[in-house]
Amino acid sequence: MADTNFDVVFVGGGPGGYIGAIRAAQLGLKTACIDKRGTFGGTCLNVGCIPSKALLKSSEYFHLAQHGLSDHGFSVGEVKLDLPKMMARKDKVVGDTTKGIEFLFKKNKVTPFKGAATIIGPNSIKVVLNDGGEETLTAKNIVIATGSDVVALPGLTIDEQTIVSSTGALTLGAVPKHLVVIGGGVIGLELGSVWQRLGAKVTVVEFLDRLIPGMDGEVAKNVQRILGKQGIEFKLGKKVVKGDKGPNGVTLTLEPAAGGAAETLDADVVLVAIGRRPYTDSLGLDTVGVALDPKGRVVVDHHYKSSVPSIFAVGDVITGPMLAHKAEEEGVAIAELLAGQAGHVNYDVIPSVIYTAPEVASVGKTEEELKAAGVEYKIGKVPFSVNARARANADIEGFVKILTDARTDKVLGCHIIHGEAGTLIAEAALAMEFGASAEDIARTCHAHPTVSEVVKEAGLAANGRTLNM
Ligand SMILES: Cc1cc2nc3c(=O)[nH]c(=O)nc-3n(C[C@H](O)[C@H](O)[C@H](O)COP(=O)(O)OP(=O)(O)OC[C@H]3O[C@@H](n4cnc5c(N)ncnc54)[C@H](O)[C@@H]3O)c2cc1C
Repeated sequence: MADTNFDVVFVGGGPGGYIGAIRAAQLGLKTACIDKRGTFGGTCLNVGCIPSKALLKSSEYFHLAQHGLSDHGFSVGEVKLDLPKMMARKDKVVGDTTKGIEFLFKKNKVTPFKGAATIIGPNSIKVVLNDGGEETLTAKNIVIATGSDVVALPGLTIDEQTIVSSTGALTLGAVPKHLVVIGGGVIGLELGSVWQRLGAKVTVVEFLDRLIPGMDGEVAKNVQRILGKQGIEFKLGKKVVKGDKGPNGVTLTLEPAAGGAAETLDADVVLVAIGRRPYTDSLGLDTVGVALDPKGRVVVDHHYKSSVPSIFAVGDVITGPMLAHKAEEEGVAIAELLAGQAGHVNYDVIPSVIYTAPEVASVGKTEEELKAAGVEYKIGKVPFSVNARARANADIEGFVKILTDARTDKVLGCHIIHGEAGTLIAEAALAMEFGASAEDIARTCHAHPTVSEVVKEAGLAANGRTLNM
């Protein structure tokens, strides 16, 4: 008979739940993790970060083979797309990665349960097992890590064929002629890029008059320019008011967000990417008395404790950016807190990355945020075109922009557009974690020739003493 008595049970096996469970078990807590999906890894590994990155990479190669090789001195014949094979590779990446979690659970002695959990008391959970039957688990503490789900647009029923969410956009059986993406955020731009590179005409419709709300305004403008040059069309300041499904796709009716004459747009596939909502459906939270905020997020204190003292929550289901690494950090923090340690997450230093080509990465404050807070700041901005390695790699698009405190030179934010921005931003995050100045970055020896030298140069630029431009 399965063990049903635990120190801590994580409900949800995404980055918040599975990482938290591993850390809790490492710290000696008797730990279980429940997920109803059938494979662990949550949204991120199954239908989010990992499959999207697999398709982004494959579609980048497809585009490169068609358009990026002749400058290097060789030509290829006709490049043909084998979409089923591309999808099979993506599925294998997902399968291998999710299986890895079961291995990690075994290694760290986390007891996995595959089934749908309902919290039936402050210390008990009912699990309806995917393989039949049910278990009732008791736990000193319960951590809700049930993540998030797609937000639907009223009037557009997602069928995952013609009107798709991100999940359907990861499994399309054919390249659409015209893909309309509703929502100019991270997920819409990434998946729009995939299908655009595979041959679709892509139009992004966004309610606001800019892309990626929350991102540094200068960066967002450049992203729009770069993706526009690649062929993605943008309709900003427009709201979708209606979608009529016909035999050949969907006719969308758009209106200017500020009011005015409507227009129609025909699409053979529509991707609804207007955001995600915290997911607590069928979890029994009202019965047990766990409070939610008006947006449906579990209300927690600084130690992730909900309104019920034995129940905690981490990840997409609580406030903060819906990012896998934020969920992971919170999973580790709650495990450490429950084990009597000082778990902590520094919310001022959560990097975020858009994996378009080039990538767009940022950490810390934007110029707009610093202005609004009345902080005096300096800018160190350097384009990749000055960097020899970027030129050798034919990857010169973009820049590093470091924002520092005008008085102390402390790094307050960093924003990067470049093919390797997602990797480069880690240096700025580390600098900020240690309270470093731009001068510290500038005085750190960076290997030559690497594109990381542009981060160093931006550190120099913040202090008005560049060497390479
Ligand atoms: C297309 C896409 C691309 C993304 N790309 C990135 C990226 O590149 N980088 C990044 O940082 N983030 C990315 N994200 C966001 C990232 O996936 C989430 O922030 C992350 O997965 C949140 O982790 P979580 O543990 O809070 O929840 P989730 O990963 O959502 O996991 C929650 C799990 O709980 C389970 N569950 C829910 N209710 C129950 C129940 N009652 N019983 C049992 N199990 C239950 C669900 O089945 C799910 O598996 C992406 C998301 C999408 C959709």
